[in-house]
Amino acid sequence: MSRVSYAIAGAALAAACLGVAAYAQQPSPPPFATTRVDGTDNVYVFRYGNAQSMFVVTSAGVIATDPIGYGRPQAVVTYVDEIKKVSSQPIKYVIYSHHHFDHIAGGKPFKDAGATFVAHKRARERLVALKDPHTVLPDETVDTGRTITLGDTTLELTYIGLNHSDSTLVMRLPKQKVLFAVDFIPVGSVPGRGMIDSYPVEWEDSMKKVLAMDWDKLIPGHPGAPGGRLGTKQDAQNLLTFLQDASAAVKAEAQAGKCWDPVEKELKLPKYEGWAGYETALPFVLRRYCGLWGRGT
Ligand SMILES: [Zn+2]
Repeated sequence: MSRVSYAIAGAALAAACLGVAAYAQQPSPPPFATTRVDGTDNVYVFRYGNAQSMFVVTSAGVIATDPIGYGRPQAVVTYVDEIKKVSSQPIKYVIYSHHHFDHIAGGKPFKDAGATFVAHKRARERLVALKDPHTVLPDETVDTGRTITLGDTTLELTYIGLNHSDSTLVMRLPKQKVLFAVDFIPVGSVPGRGMIDSYPVEWEDSMKKVLAMDWDKLIPGHPGAPGGRLGTKQDAQNLLTFLQDASAAVKAEAQAGKCWDPVEKELKLPKYEGWAGYETALPFVLRRYCGLWGRGT
């Protein structure tokens, strides 16, 4: 080995060691966190593990959203405790973003606190059929939309059609220009396994409706990448472009008979390599579009 090669090898080893050291020093995030949204005095994000939800403190009570207690009832007890730390007001509402259990299971502590549960009507229909013992049934349902006014705060609930599920309500605070939208607009990351019951054609339409709304900050249902950040309209536009690119790429392959395996194993979308979850989630995206363009489902 030449002197230069030794030098390069030494530098590589040093870099590798530094890398290991840097990794070892990365503090793991705390199990949960409550954060007030910048630019507001009453909008909070409660994160527990890898899921999060919004709650809003008003002069006449608290509006909470998804309990995020799937398989971890302690998360919901913590959620209620965290609300109590910032407000002595009663918890008046729990609004479900959609019917998936990873976001809405575990609401009993909110029910015990006297909250009224609200969801899209299709969410209630599904929950009545599924009878999940850990999920509180909605008391009230929304069809196309509803505005909740509590004290000094207005919260708009809007059904924007089929997307990641058939029961999604987006929640918008018009004064604060904050949007809470779960699962169908992942921030800085590729939508993954949870695409299973999604509606890819209509999803694009619902993205256009979200982009036409007046908001500045997006609270996603899972922490945004990188660093757990909130989203912007640019993130929403990027996600729409991703869906359109993935759809067009698979459509061409599907019509050439390449679904399922050749597409899932070989098709890449290198423009999105830098997004969180690219390697693991992309095959699920491709499978869904193979279902659409290769199978007609
Ligand atoms: Zn979901």
